[in-house]
Amino acid sequence: MPSSIPYRKTAVLNVRIFDGWRIGEPTNIAIDGDSITFDLRNARNIIDGQGGVLLPGLIDSHIHLSQMASLETLISYGVTTAMNMGCDNYTLCAALREQPGLTSVFNAGQAAVKPNSTHATVFGAHGYVTSPSQAEEFVAAVFGNGSDYMKLISESNGFGQDIHDALVNATHAQGGVSMTHAQDHAGYEVAVASRTDGLQHVPYDIPLTQEMAYRIRRQRQFVTPTLNIARITVSNRTVEAIISPDANLTLEAGITSLQRLLYAGVPILAGTDANDLADSFLPGDVVGKTLHEELQLLTAAGMSEVDVLRAATVVPSYWHNLTRRGSIEEGYRADLLLLKPGADPLRNISQTLDIARVWVGGIEHAAY
Ligand SMILES: [Zn+2]
Repeated sequence: MPSSIPYRKTAVLNVRIFDGWRIGEPTNIAIDGDSITFDLRNARNIIDGQGGVLLPGLIDSHIHLSQMASLETLISYGVTTAMNMGCDNYTLCAALREQPGLTSVFNAGQAAVKPNSTHATVFGAHGYVTSPSQAEEFVAAVFGNGSDYMKLISESNGFGQDIHDALVNATHAQGGVSMTHAQDHAGYEVAVASRTDGLQHVPYDIPLTQEMAYRIRRQRQFVTPTLNIARITVSNRTVEAIISPDANLTLEAGITSLQRLLYAGVPILAGTDANDLADSFLPGDVVGKTLHEELQLLTAAGMSEVDVLRAATVVPSYWHNLTRRGSIEEGYRADLLLLKPGADPLRNISQTLDIARVWVGGIEHAAY
């Protein structure tokens, strides 16, 4: 419990802060309770940052968590906030939410899905909606169970426009934010037209047109491309056949989609779609490390290093309506990732993995 953690103000000296745009000259910072401060007075504990780069704790904007132990793995990789993009067990999701010293989790609710669609038959999703008239009650149950976001599945054999629109409208009427899974062109058309807030994934069958990318921008929607999961699925035919039996998915189509979104100026968020299921059929998909790999994939796809760092910090904080997160500012939560001396992720994005220390809510993760 937070109250049992001994109060101790900690000064972290000689760090180079990423301010959202650039990495500054060496300076000093302090952690007071769960907050960042630049007032170093009365700091009892002194840490030498050795000139290392100090980043805001990283945010994975799309993950699937089913075990408390995953929070330990995530925090060891400097992921201080995670968006659990779907929940089939509200008791578990509530327990994951705010564990002191571990990754802070926000939860989407049970995903709304069409019966007999791919997500229903392959992934066992069972948040069935069969008529627009059911939307209000479904959404009320999602938020009534403590969810932070509404999640919908849009796919070629999924919802028609009427049900999707009804769910998004009900979410907005209840003051919520909606996230739509869409990874094929048909699913994307419906999701974009519905004006859902967050588009999860990009089309991996037929690339998004430039026209549609402009429309997404005009409608103030944001996109979490999740190149990580695409890399894993398209490189494995068996997996691809399970996930997308009727379409040929390619990473190239996803990258072209992303490049058109970037050209249109659509906000891009870093998310992995990683899961922690013991029996996952997705080889090589692990929580924590995959966010760093996503940053590398986004960079390789044409995003600048600074935009990629923003996609895992300040941008998701804004679009997910988080407070006191994603930046290193006075009074913000002390969610921090200190890199080893010499590591500079603006020159080489893979150096986000050169982790020296991690704090979440002011609590330092034990060395490992
Ligand atoms: Zn997902």
